[in-house]
Amino acid sequence: MTLEEQICAKARELLESGEAEVVVGFAAGTMPLTVRPAFIRDPADTSRLTWNRLCTPALARYVQEYIRDRRNRRDYDVAKTKKVAVVVSPCDERALVAYMKENQFTRADIYVIGVNCAVPLIDRKKVLDKVGVYSVRNARIDGDKVIVLTTAGSEVQLPAADFVENICAVCTRRSIISADATLGTAAIPGKASDRFGRVREQESRAPDERWNWLREEFSRCIRCYACRQACPVCYCEECFADQRNPSWIGPATAEEDILAFHIVRCFHTAGRCVECGACERACPMDIHVRVLSDKLVKEVVEKFDYEVDAALDAKPPLSTYKPDDPNEGFM
Ligand code: SF4
Ligand code: SF4
Ligand code: SF4
Repeated sequence: MTLEEQICAKARELLESGEAEVVVGFAAGTMPLTVRPAFIRDPADTSRLTWNRLCTPALARYVQEYIRDRRNRRDYDVAKTKKVAVVVSPCDERALVAYMKENQFTRADIYVIGVNCAVPLIDRKKVLDKVGVYSVRNARIDGDKVIVLTTAGSEVQLPAADFVENICAVCTRRSIISADATLGTAAIPGKASDRFGRVREQESRAPDERWNWLREEFSRCIRCYACRQACPVCYCEECFADQRNPSWIGPATAEEDILAFHIVRCFHTAGRCVECGACERACPMDIHVRVLSDKLVKEVVEKFDYEVDAALDAKPPLSTYKPDDPNEGFM
């Protein structure tokens, strides 16, 4: 069976047996080189599920929202509640772990269908930039090639290796840790790579240079909030940036408001960022948003020896404190 067939079969089994009420996965998108989230409730619909190199991590957030909304329904009855099954890559699995640590749901609420990352994902934006966004009539990935049919009617074959997702290029964790079912390729050892390369580059600069880089890079921000909406750990029902009483930051694109938004958002992800790259992928202005969150990931790893996918009972550093902590500022 192909990986897709295995996913469909597992989804059908979970729905037919009544173990899960819904399977959250990916279905083919309507635009070239896209996929979209699919909520499958009918076993007969499971054939809509797909899995390919365009399935960038995004589904964990839908699971969090689905379970939250279900809990808020008037007719919610915990005794009649079934599991929410979800198909995840290792990045999305980390987001599930982060949610469970933040009590958004429990392990018993979900059924995890894990897929190890045998091949790196393809960044659609990079393909469109190469060919020209208005020149693509259709496109598909075939093995190690991206095959584009242009609006002029010609077929262009491009090496897939040229369009690898930034997160995959430095990924050190390509295997699922704790799924209910792991499908496809067996566990894959992570490659040695410097996941904090861009942060180290900034750290090597003088403070003035870093500040100038930050101002320049974020001067393109249009405050569309796509980075926040895509981020699995930005799930506050009312973001500080939207609050008006009190109003923490102005709503416009003044430099101080843009920087305040990004710096505060970044601090809110400290010890929680799952390094999925969704923020940067969503940005229409190609801003390197992750340099900020990566810096805090690096600080948390180095100073607290904590990774977000550590064991479920490992407390995130900002969710705990020790009365005898030797650092100033603690109780
Ligand atoms: S800050 Fe970016 S990389 Fe980190 S969890 Fe959010 S979307 Fe993913
Ligand atoms: S920036 Fe902060 S307040 Fe806004 S959604 Fe993210 S975590 Fe919540
Ligand atoms: S997605 Fe990009 S442009 Fe939009 S708010 Fe985030 S950084 Fe700014």
